[in-house]
Amino acid sequence: MSFKTDQESLRKWFLQTKREFPWRNQITPYKVWISEVMLQQTRADVVVDYFERWMQLFPTIQDLKNAPLESVLKAWEGLGYYSRARNIHKAAESLASYFPKDFSSLISIKGIGAYTANAILSFAFHEKVIAMDANVERVLCRYFALHDLKEIKKRAEGDLSPFHPFEIAEALIELGATICKKKPECENCPLSKGCLAYKNGSILQYPLAKKRKQTQEVFIEVQIYQYKELFGVNKKGKNELFQDLYLFHENRVSKEIFLKITAKSLFKKVVATATFYRFHLIANLIEIDQPLEGLEFYSLKECLKKSFSSGHKRILHQLVSIKENKECIP
Ligand code: SF4
Repeated sequence: MSFKTDQESLRKWFLQTKREFPWRNQITPYKVWISEVMLQQTRADVVVDYFERWMQLFPTIQDLKNAPLESVLKAWEGLGYYSRARNIHKAAESLASYFPKDFSSLISIKGIGAYTANAILSFAFHEKVIAMDANVERVLCRYFALHDLKEIKKRAEGDLSPFHPFEIAEALIELGATICKKKPECENCPLSKGCLAYKNGSILQYPLAKKRKQTQEVFIEVQIYQYKELFGVNKKGKNELFQDLYLFHENRVSKEIFLKITAKSLFKKVVATATFYRFHLIANLIEIDQPLEGLEFYSLKECLKKSFSSGHKRILHQLVSIKENKECIP
């Protein structure tokens, strides 16, 4: 057996068992592009609501191009990695008039990498290419019992059927997500006949573990300055972490001080991650009798319309609960 022959069983399995997702209906390059960027680092079931809301707000690339950045960031709120939303908004300027159909033009667009470009070429334009995300890498490393990703891609694409190559490419992603997981279910796998690692009993050797950069723990006191019924916030500037998003005033503290503040605070601790940081946030409400310089002051209603970083958004919701005399949720 080889990938040439096994891929038909894979395709049949996919067509019978594939999960329904809104980006799999009436496929367009725009839908593939947005869904693939959203799916990076986020589970498919979480992305569904974001994707549907996005398509209601910006049904076409032209609508996206015409929308203010603020509303694009608001639609992205909670997905993290906000530079992706900024890149999408910027790319819409050129993609609204022409959506390229070749790899080199696609990856020249900021925010579209090799994986997304191949996904667009495969799913939207039905090119004979494979989009290699971590799931597909795991499946194919095991199938060919190889570590060299370039060689694996070359072999798989060389064997790829000219008929429905996009279904096979998508089936590989689905197989990695549902069957060929870290602990694979080989007995249910449509590729088991030709899978070399399965035959050799060497599955756990593939793929090679990637070195992860260590996460840094950061402890922050979030100071919410209240002036009458207005609250002080700060919009992050260019090249700052959380660029274009709103945050309350922050004060970095040691772990010991953080624990002391947490013990006394009306708020609950919030943990949020961004890039290689894990932020531990505890808020404090500080009433002032005149607005502070360097902060913008808004009512709670106005704050709720703005795009906050995910950690500060949760603190904002805690603040709303406190003001309504309800228990706040971490
Ligand atoms: S047989 Fe097992 S290891 Fe091989 S591709 Fe299928 S699930 Fe993965």
